[in-house]
Amino acid sequence: MSKADVRIDVVIIGGGIAGLWLLDSLQEAGFSALVLNKGDLGQGQSVASQGIIHGGTKYFSDSTVADLAPMPARWRASLSGQQGPDLRPAAALAEAMQMWLPPQLGGGVMSRFAQATMLRQVQERPACDWPSVLAQDSGGHLFDVDEAVIDIPEVLAALQNLHHGRVRGLPEGTNLSLSESSQGGMIVDTGTVRIQTQRLVLTAGAGNEILLDQAGLPQFACQRRPLRQVIVRGMTQPIFMHCIGKNPKPLATITSHPDGGNGYYWYVGGLLAEKGVAQDPAELIRIAKAELRRLLPGADFSQSGWATHHVDRAEPAGQGGLRPGSALALRQGAVIVGWPTKLALAPVLADKIVALLRADEMKQGVEDIDALDRLPTPVIAQPPWQAVRQWN
Ligand SMILES: Cc1cc2nc3c(=O)[nH]c(=O)nc-3n(C[C@H](O)[C@H](O)[C@H](O)COP(=O)(O)OP(=O)(O)OC[C@H]3O[C@@H](n4cnc5c(N)ncnc54)[C@H](O)[C@@H]3O)c2cc1C
Repeated sequence: MSKADVRIDVVIIGGGIAGLWLLDSLQEAGFSALVLNKGDLGQGQSVASQGIIHGGTKYFSDSTVADLAPMPARWRASLSGQQGPDLRPAAALAEAMQMWLPPQLGGGVMSRFAQATMLRQVQERPACDWPSVLAQDSGGHLFDVDEAVIDIPEVLAALQNLHHGRVRGLPEGTNLSLSESSQGGMIVDTGTVRIQTQRLVLTAGAGNEILLDQAGLPQFACQRRPLRQVIVRGMTQPIFMHCIGKNPKPLATITSHPDGGNGYYWYVGGLLAEKGVAQDPAELIRIAKAELRRLLPGADFSQSGWATHHVDRAEPAGQGGLRPGSALALRQGAVIVGWPTKLALAPVLADKIVALLRADEMKQGVEDIDALDRLPTPVIAQPPWQAVRQWN
């Protein structure tokens, strides 16, 4: 088959939360855009994330980003259809996270919480209203935190469905070629389709490293921060909880996902997952079993199966290995590279990229996309708990 030509304002490479949210924002802003994705949508970080829409609660040392504060309301507006993108088909898994402070924590930790309570970021729950995984007579404090938890595959599917024909896959073995066009834009060649675009946006997570190299922009340095999440199956109740210790990072952050029957998968991150990178899966599972039994003495693990999932957070390289404070979009010529750094910040990244393109005063709405039909429609990636082959 001869190569077919496509013309469009913006090509986005990478269809995780960042690329799919951006596609909707660009279309709404009057740009014509499309997403090209290698593999399944959200493969890598988005489907492996815990789906927590952080609001930057002052308690956490790594969550003090000012941009996070409006995010819970921003996402709720989309989930309820009051603001685009319309995410009504995707139900929230939980309206709030809980934060558990065991009794033995010192006054320093409690005073940080008192501050957060005053800022109305958290609200204490009386012991009579605690979930049964906690021992009510043990003392300690439980807070509700304004952080919804979203169902990532459902959110990705809702975003894809909003612009279905514009989300395309790159067949296995595609050798994507990126080159500058003589008219000042870029040419993206998939082998079967040659796309002439005014601007190219890279939102491919860990894939950005290679794409930046291919686009001749190795100066935008990337970093990866590995995690080894713990997955527990066979749990009888869902919990959405940060378990706090003396470290400013939660000892364990647990989200839950229905297993299609009567039970739930628990998906566990936090310090357990950060330290888990240095442990082999069997050792991490042994440590996680002891830690979760200690933190949640009322939890019923009698039917549980255990597994781990290794995944890298892909980010722009900050100084000293630190991640940047918020979503970051960098531009060089006709290429923009974007990292949300947190799923919750995908709307902020999209706003930043739309602003960069508007400042460009490029001509909007030029497109000829019939030949896109030659590229397949990608599917949503499986979340890690559905992909486990062997439970321990
Ligand atoms: C374990 C874990 C838990 C997390 N929990 C949270 C949380 O609770 N809340 C929060 O706000 N953030 C969380 N994060 C961070 C969040 O997941 C990421 O910031 C966000 O998902 C990044 O989205 P992305 O679209 O940039 O990248 P990705 O989700 O990695 O998507 C990249 C996309 O690009 C595609 N791709 C890759 N290479 C190429 C290529 N060469 N060509 C074309 N396409 C390509 C992939 O198939 C994929 O679809 C978590 C991250 C991890 C790892």
